[in-house]
Amino acid sequence: APADYQPAENLLEGKTILVTGAGDGIGRAASLAYAAHGATVILLGRTEGKLDALYDQIEAAGHAKPAIVPMDLLTVTEEQCMQLVAGLADEFGQIDGLLHNASVLGERRPIQSATYTAWQEVMQVNVNAAFLLTRHLLPLLQASPSASIVFTSSGVGRTGRAFWGAYAASKFATEGLMQVLSEELVETSNIRVNCINPGATNTTMRRTAYPAEHPEKNPSPEEIMGTYLYLMGEDSAGTTGVSFDAQ
Ligand code: NDP
Repeated sequence: APADYQPAENLLEGKTILVTGAGDGIGRAASLAYAAHGATVILLGRTEGKLDALYDQIEAAGHAKPAIVPMDLLTVTEEQCMQLVAGLADEFGQIDGLLHNASVLGERRPIQSATYTAWQEVMQVNVNAAFLLTRHLLPLLQASPSASIVFTSSGVGRTGRAFWGAYAASKFATEGLMQVLSEELVETSNIRVNCINPGATNTTMRRTAYPAEHPEKNPSPEEIMGTYLYLMGEDSAGTTGVSFDAQ
């Protein structure tokens, strides 16, 4: 199973991979894992200090020099996406991997008392921003001989659960976007499109959602990287339209 995947050390050599929400949690671990397996990583996130610290760590480890893209997905415009793509086209010419990882949890409360502002924020960051980035990055992904787009789902993106509100709806939308895009690209391009549900993982988001839970009960982000590596490397070539569980 991809969760137990044993990647070759040079699995991602020569590949350029963009990770959203790279500064913390699962995105941070994935960025480090991709860099450690040879990729040049483009670190996109909203807190620049976290991206700078990660950049330093990757460089100190002797991996390929990363790039940093400070971007707030809550307020990102189509214009900003187009500027980003123009810059990446100049610097890299192509993108071989895109990990949509950034998300916000939003409110944990019944629909009846949910606020429209919080609903819109969750949909904006988790769904609309992922659409916008994908929409504008597709030409750079098509320029790659073999590209992989990975969306991040959740258990509540497959079966709804009380009080998970906009977050659950946003993850259903993410699964839908993955399926639509996968089918559109399957015959006509070298781009595969899949989802990962990380499962309960010890991050700030999990600790916020389950304050009464012992954090150490769940695996660290570093422990769930098998599927994240599998989907970015050539062993997953031809696999598309699938929603994976990382645990
Ligand atoms: P974290 O909250 O630990 O990290 C989320 C990352 O996304 C942070 O780096 C955060 O930036 C970034 N981010 C949030 N909002 C924005 C924004 N507006 N613009 C740019 N970046 C933003 O979450 P996890 O690592 O736990 O989650 C990663 C993914 O996994 C998410 O899609 C989540 O839904 C999913 N997931 C997680 C599970 C878990 O148990 N942890 C279970 C199921 C799914 P900053 O550092 O600035 O806060």
